[in-house]
Amino acid sequence: MESNTRKLDKVVIANRGEIALRILRACRELDIKTVAVHSTADRDLMHVRLADESVCIGNPSASESYLNMPAIISAAEITDAVAIHPGYGFLAENADFAERVETSGFVFIGPRPESIRLMGDKVSAIALMKEAGVPTVPGSDGVLSDDPEKNLKLAKKIAYPVILKAAGGGGGRGMRIVHTESHLLNAIALTRNESQMAFNNPAIYMEKFLEHPRHIEVQVFGNGEGRAIFLGERDCSVQRRHQKIIEEAPAVDLSEKQREAIGALCVQACRRMKYRGAGTFEFLYEDGKFYFIEMNTRIQVEHPVTEMVTGIDLVKEQLLNASGQPLRYKQENIKIQGHAIECRINAEDPLSFLPSPGLITSYFAPGGPGIRVDSHIYAGYRVPPFYDSLIAKVIAYGEDRASALARMKQALEEIVIEGIKTNIPLHQKLLCEDAMIKGGVDIHYLEKKLQLF
Ligand code: ADP
Repeated sequence: MESNTRKLDKVVIANRGEIALRILRACRELDIKTVAVHSTADRDLMHVRLADESVCIGNPSASESYLNMPAIISAAEITDAVAIHPGYGFLAENADFAERVETSGFVFIGPRPESIRLMGDKVSAIALMKEAGVPTVPGSDGVLSDDPEKNLKLAKKIAYPVILKAAGGGGGRGMRIVHTESHLLNAIALTRNESQMAFNNPAIYMEKFLEHPRHIEVQVFGNGEGRAIFLGERDCSVQRRHQKIIEEAPAVDLSEKQREAIGALCVQACRRMKYRGAGTFEFLYEDGKFYFIEMNTRIQVEHPVTEMVTGIDLVKEQLLNASGQPLRYKQENIKIQGHAIECRINAEDPLSFLPSPGLITSYFAPGGPGIRVDSHIYAGYRVPPFYDSLIAKVIAYGEDRASALARMKQALEEIVIEGIKTNIPLHQKLLCEDAMIKGGVDIHYLEKKLQLF
């Protein structure tokens, strides 16, 4: 049989923290050598210690290290690496980076640059979803025009409240909610200016503002040649300032029929763009209906909950796909079993949310049946102040949601992280709330709750 597999002898891990260690572990399992690239502030990271080789690529500031494309590509060149795994964040969804990696002769472990570019512009992403039959939020059907009359008419037709969003936006920025007609034109002008400044692109679009949606996302995996599968969904509605803090799989109250239907549409969209590797379709879900908001063309922070309920190692699949191996699973092989919950542990004050970097003086990781901890920290590790505050993900799996919750509560009791503040007390409090025990809260739940704490 003809084979187009290439040996992924050595992979550069172009990231830091827990995801860098996660990627290293998957490489080790597949007997792939690893190169850790790190900033001067990150010499003591666990994966830097464990990697076969490491290269310091610059100063602590991300723009001088983890976002420094030439430095990362040079590191791949000098170490004779074959591929680059971008993780999440940093350069993971930068189409120019993916392109430079490929034109420099390396394998980019992620989708083709064209797919990243297409999905990175939310207006083109929504247009493609519509073509594929994926439901989207009622809205402007493309970029807003400069005609005030037309825009006023449009908003009236969509019905207030509406939300204005930057076509090039991301990270929860570049959005503005408009409740009444008298504010619309001014809000359009402001949002255009902001998106020009923040994203170098003044294009904005309009959507109906949904008032009590849940955030439900679908995990997909494509072989890059038109075959794709979906691996169930995750509910990530527990968010503060659009940052997820608790995620779970499957989503409560979603019927098998609904799951199959939305999954099939996502697969359809992947087929159309010959999507390669892991990806996520994000939806708002309200009154039993899904509305596409964006696609993330990378592995996500919350991927472990999907791994727990499907038994599939997504990072390993990314590596196998990058080595040219055919997709090992068929849709009928994907079975969702049990329930998984993830709590993101951040180095921050549990009430004020102010970052709390510093020395971890003692650390004890929880364990027992169904508990997984994805973390790079250890006693004696100093959390640097320069990066995201995520220091650990505690994932609890159980035969059902109640069992996963009970195991999570126990794990949060057991875990010890001393020397810095963390949001563990917040998680503990939340997991005792009736609404959380019942499940299915909307995206505004946490912020409303925090006002009462
Ligand atoms: P980003 O790429 O910046 O994360 P998204 O389009 O994913 O932007 O939206 C981020 C968040 O903003 C969503 O998770 C949701 O909380 C809120 N949001 C976006 N669009 C709408 C909408 N049409 N109605 C209500 N909330 C929305």
